Amino acid sequence: MGKQFAVIGLGRFGSNVCKELYQLGHEVLAIDANENIVDRLKHHSSHAVVANATDEAILKSLGLRNFDYAIIAIGEHIQPSILCTLILKEMGIKQVWVKAQNTQHHKVLEKIGADRIIQPEKEMGMRIAHQLDSEKIIDYIELSKEYSIVEVVATAKISNRTLVEVDVRKRFGCTVLAVKRDEQVNISPLPNDFIYEGDILVVMGHKNDIKRFENKGM
Ligand code: ATP
Ligand code: ATP
Ligand code: CA
Repeated sequence: MGKQFAVIGLGRFGSNVCKELYQLGHEVLAIDANENIVDRLKHHSSHAVVANATDEAILKSLGLRNFDYAIIAIGEHIQPSILCTLILKEMGIKQVWVKAQNTQHHKVLEKIGADRIIQPEKEMGMRIAHQLDSEKIIDYIELSKEYSIVEVVATAKISNRTLVEVDVRKRFGCTVLAVKRDEQVNISPLPNDFIYEGDILVVMGHKNDIKRFENKGM
């Protein structure tokens, strides 16, 4: 049995979260104030309901307290997003994830107990910047202000050498979490596993260390 999700606010972000969760086999309740938008999600959710997400009585009547996760993606105005977050946290939903418009919105959501705050444009923008910054970096995930995980393409310089020979951890303080070659993924690679040009290395470490590895190590 899959988990139960409520997706509230079905703009571009919310509707895609909804469709994807539903495709993954979960029970998804889709909620939006706009009837036309709700109509479009009818066949991509378990239930699609027209409702004002700031109306506590309606949210209660929809049985929201029983959901494992609620994802709030109301953009336009910050106030309904904040109000809805408050109501759902008060109802006792364990995981309330909210899309934030800007830094102030983010701060308020943090204060009122949102469990995860997403700023898609900011986060995606940063990821893309890192991909543009380096031709070697093909993906980038920020773990914290200091640490990240990147995917880098192995260059000729480190081709035909083992992880011990390249000595990523000792020389650069970074850990190679996985090596992707064609369709195969080698997770937790061993010291004597070889790297070949074109392999994709999934590397975790301090941002400065990753930068050093990328510039000097390969
Ligand atoms: P995206 O960028 O993902 O398209 P957005 O951040 O621009 O979204 P909007 O399109 O403004 O956000 O809002 C997302 C949805 O939230 C809209 O479909 C809108 O109808 C819905 N919405 C706004 N206020 C409420 C509310 N009080 N209750 C329910 N839904 C609401
Ligand atoms: P250490 O105490 O450094 O782990 P060790 O003798 O236990 O040393 P290994 O950890 O097995 O040796 O590997 C030796 C070296 O190979 C490490 O110091 C590191 O530089 C490199 N290495 C091995 N595996 C990885 C990996 N997955 N990612 C990055 N570097 C690796
Ligand atoms: Ca928008």
